Amino acid sequence: MPTYREFHRRSLADREAFWREQAALIDWHRPYEQVLDYSRPPFARWFVGGQTNLCHNALDRHLGVRAEQQALVWISTEVNQTRSFTYGELHAEVNRAAAMMQSLGVKRGDRVIIYMPMVPEAAFAILACARLGAIHSVVFGGFAASSLAARIDDARPALMITADGGSRMGKPVLYKSLVDESLKIARHPPRKVLIFRRGLDENMPVVADRDVDWATLAKDFNGASVACAWLESNEPSYILFTSGTTGRPKGVQRDVGGYAVALASSMKHIFCGEPGETMFTTSDIGWVVGHSYIIYAPLLAGMTTIMYEGVPIRPDAGIWWKIVEDYKVSVMFSAPTAIRVLKKHDLSYVRKHDLSTLKHLFLAGEPLDEPTHQWISESLGRPVIDHYWQTETGWPLLSAHPGVEQTPIKMGSPSFPVYGYDVRLLHEQTGKPVADGEKGVVAIAPPLPPGCMSTVWGDDERFVNTYFRDFKDQLIYSTFDWGIRDKDGYYYILGRTDDVINVAGHRLGTREIEEAVSMHPNVAECAVVGVADQLKGQLPLAFAVLKDAGKRTSAEDVMQTVDRQLGAIARPKAVHFVTLLPKTRSGKTLRRAIQALAEGRDPGDLTTIEDPTALTQIKEALRT
Ligand code: ATP
Ligand code: MG
Repeated sequence: MPTYREFHRRSLADREAFWREQAALIDWHRPYEQVLDYSRPPFARWFVGGQTNLCHNALDRHLGVRAEQQALVWISTEVNQTRSFTYGELHAEVNRAAAMMQSLGVKRGDRVIIYMPMVPEAAFAILACARLGAIHSVVFGGFAASSLAARIDDARPALMITADGGSRMGKPVLYKSLVDESLKIARHPPRKVLIFRRGLDENMPVVADRDVDWATLAKDFNGASVACAWLESNEPSYILFTSGTTGRPKGVQRDVGGYAVALASSMKHIFCGEPGETMFTTSDIGWVVGHSYIIYAPLLAGMTTIMYEGVPIRPDAGIWWKIVEDYKVSVMFSAPTAIRVLKKHDLSYVRKHDLSTLKHLFLAGEPLDEPTHQWISESLGRPVIDHYWQTETGWPLLSAHPGVEQTPIKMGSPSFPVYGYDVRLLHEQTGKPVADGEKGVVAIAPPLPPGCMSTVWGDDERFVNTYFRDFKDQLIYSTFDWGIRDKDGYYYILGRTDDVINVAGHRLGTREIEEAVSMHPNVAECAVVGVADQLKGQLPLAFAVLKDAGKRTSAEDVMQTVDRQLGAIARPKAVHFVTLLPKTRSGKTLRRAIQALAEGRDPGDLTTIEDPTALTQIKEALRT
């Protein structure tokens, strides 16, 4: 076995041979002629000329040995149901869904917008698109009509698939009526809308000639079989919009072959998921994590994947650990924001479950602060691996690689560059590499490895201008995140490049200050933003959610914690206590909105916000 260092070195030094080996992890209908075509920088084309299919690799390929093994287990604590599908059954469902979509006119290359709650039919639809070579664009359920309409106009779908409703905390969320509303605004509506009825909206309106009922149509296609479309490796598999934390969402386009290879390879070298084992990813299919690690990767690896509809604290804060115990989960993937929610609850919810099958818990999506990392590691007694990635990359770009080498975990660090990624830390002005221990912009020297976005959907220019023009004189991909590397080669993400505060000439990352605020024993989570100050340029302002609201905690206490960690220069101007923070639906704190309010500006586009009352709290806190 090579060490991590050697493995990573080889992935860049001997790129072709390295990825040729990884490409053997999937089936190719026709072999590729060239591992990488990089004749038009920064556009990378992987496995040129090869033909394959994601659905074939996720399902058909396993039927010989795994037809009877569970492929998908759906657990809903919203409607209190469980449904499971073996590889054989899932294959049949996907074939039927593909035949249904064909009957509605969907052809290879057409776009299909999937606006669905976390139900198995959503997975059928995604895999059926892959089977047909149709391009899916899953839109997170619960977006406002205007955000949905914008995505419809960008994708111009032939078909939309939705459900009557979803459920959140036991309350119905109407999907279909929101689709109707968005289709009134959209300039490029689809001809047909396919609706899966769950009985969550008895009064659901139906538009004749356009709306089609899933169950009715399915009856016509029982036992249908649809051949996989063999796609050239670089044809698009899907479009997915970024979260919109920093501005207008970007339509990330992904390929077929490179994506399949990257995911299959990550299951081996990073996630350590073995065929026959179970993976539980708590994300949503509307996010990149859901695409990669609820749907495609675990199935590519021959695992059982768990799809969970519900929140982590209902019926109680032990539900996820109960699932780990009941289904013998070996790989779990969640987000720091969820762990911070669980941290507010009693430890016995974790402790009473047998978690012995769990090899690792992976967390991504946001900075994982040290206290939370510590808490969850100790509570589980299992390695908790922070790893860092973006919608754009499709799979991790910084991570530990337990499948290659067991390197020690350092709290607060997502460890090392993932193989295939030539990660650089660059000085924001000069663009020159910074020394160990110095802050720089996390960048990737192209070509981007397999699995990463191939372009912005329909807009090659935006791809280049958005991502590759941060540094004037070099064509290099910017993540727009700050990072730092220690002498042992471990990376730390310090927040987004637009989340930096300038206090009397000192540049402070909001992440660093948040980390310091979180060191206070009664702080569950917090957000820090910089607000304009006549004297000092900017000053940090903190909003904190307490673990135990009953326990007396003063702003001064919290400020002293910051003084101790970072020094008085980082001391927040004020600390406000709130019960929740404004977040996007993917759990990312909307710092730009908080900052705008704090400076008396318009908070801008808020269509991706999870709970608008969080902003009301911020406004009230600011008034006091
Ligand atoms: P947009 O690009 O539209 O503003 P977004 O950046 O929030 O939205 P995503 O692609 O979902 O959309 O999020 C990726 C970002 O999340 C990263 O660039 C980084 O800022 C943050 N992130 C993800 N994982 C980690 C991690 N392990 N540690 C720190 N930050 C992380
Ligand atoms: Mg981003």
